Amino acid sequence: MRNTLATKLLFELSQPGRRGARLPACDVPEQPVEALLPAAAVAESPPPLPELAEPDVVRHFTNLSTLNMSVDTHYYPLGSCTMKYNPKRNERLASLPGIVSLHPYQPEETLQGMLELLYQLQQMLGEISGLPAVSLQPAAGAHGELTALMVAAAHFKELGEVRTKVLTPDSAHGTNPASAAMAGFQTVTVKSAANGLVDMDDLRSKLDDQVAVFMITNPNTLGIFDDQVGQIADLVHKQGGLIYLDGANMNAIMGITRPGDFGADMMHFNPHKTFSGPHGGGGPGAGPICVAAKLEPYLPSPVVACREGRYELEWDREKSIGRVRSFFGNVGVLVRAYCYILTHGPAGLRQVSENAVLNANYLLSRVKHILPVPHGDRCMHEFVASASQLKKDRSVTAMHLAKRLLDYGFHAPTVYFPLTVPEAMMIEPTETESKESLDAFAEALFRITDEPADRLQDAPHTTTISRPNEVQAARQPVLKWTSD
Ligand SMILES: *Cc1c(COP(=O)(O)O)cnc(C)c1O
Repeated sequence: MRNTLATKLLFELSQPGRRGARLPACDVPEQPVEALLPAAAVAESPPPLPELAEPDVVRHFTNLSTLNMSVDTHYYPLGSCTMKYNPKRNERLASLPGIVSLHPYQPEETLQGMLELLYQLQQMLGEISGLPAVSLQPAAGAHGELTALMVAAAHFKELGEVRTKVLTPDSAHGTNPASAAMAGFQTVTVKSAANGLVDMDDLRSKLDDQVAVFMITNPNTLGIFDDQVGQIADLVHKQGGLIYLDGANMNAIMGITRPGDFGADMMHFNPHKTFSGPHGGGGPGAGPICVAAKLEPYLPSPVVACREGRYELEWDREKSIGRVRSFFGNVGVLVRAYCYILTHGPAGLRQVSENAVLNANYLLSRVKHILPVPHGDRCMHEFVASASQLKKDRSVTAMHLAKRLLDYGFHAPTVYFPLTVPEAMMIEPTETESKESLDAFAEALFRITDEPADRLQDAPHTTTISRPNEVQAARQPVLKWTSD
């Protein structure tokens, strides 16, 4: 039917003088559409759609799209989230017809190019992490955490060991204890010492042969590299436990050190952070995991394998925890990560990390006199400043600063995380910002802290929406537009 209608339409459009004429060479019998559809599916009147001209629709959506802040429109130093620039070249490559027109149900013989790309990406991530066995399936960092903890559970089950606990530092991202709970473990919090690193005495007191995994973020969420990590790994390994590295902060250490070399047994990457995939409102993420060779048998199935010069999806994996995501994972994000890694190469990735660390230290040194950084004068790729003093002196909070920054054209840093720093402002410039942007951001902060406090109470003044009730917006979102 579709062919007949389409051919007829084309014919009519191309022959304005012969509208309604029958196609001379077309002998497919014509049937009214109603005859081809079940009666219940045929509408009796047209749907109540608004009648609008195309320019009005285009303007509406174009204007809507400009209400959002994004890395393409504004400097976006959202700590922990690594909002680096998304190279447009990667977008172009990921939308090549040979990539977007593939279907995951195609026979493997016709998917050799994509499988090769995914296989090579597995190899690259294995090399960057120092953990050779890789699954690209998980759909986000948090999903990678859950998947790896399920891998750990399968490993201990096979060893016949009953281990019920997962340890997480108090500075950890909320997804760490949440993933541990979802994987069926009891979560135990380990305190940070005054210097922001893991409190070794507290760790020792909580470590026993019931501990399955210690989850560590390194550099941690305060932007400090925990140099005790080798010692921590030794302690945990002595008790038979595993080390999980939350890889959200890999942007600070790529090509400089590898989690597998400092004692990690498992980790996830966030390609939408470290490898510049668009994220937040910009698209889905991915959360590939890398594990030590001894954990390889438990990885989700399938993994991409190469056998006798041919790539294949390896399903026949007896000890696997099974599938955690449909098809091969979020392939679009993985293609961008592949392009990013290939573009930079080993030396380039190291340079990315060095520049990210340099930018963060530059910004830290510019703002610390107005926003003290409780955990040191140096940082890795991000730092956590505190607005505590401003709050005491002038009733100016981290929230006031964050909201007022929007008026100056800057997306706010992450605020009130990690929980261990009062009035926290977690600032991550990333390597893709120029000195000019960093200076402009610092100067905006200086100007804001000079403003009368009442100017800040009800900021932002220039955005379409000013101060929504955030709790209500999260709990009872209005997701539907209606005319009444
Ligand atoms: C972003 C982040 C996560 C979670 O990753 P998603 O991809 O957002 O699920 C976990 N830990 C840390 C430290 C993070 O910054």
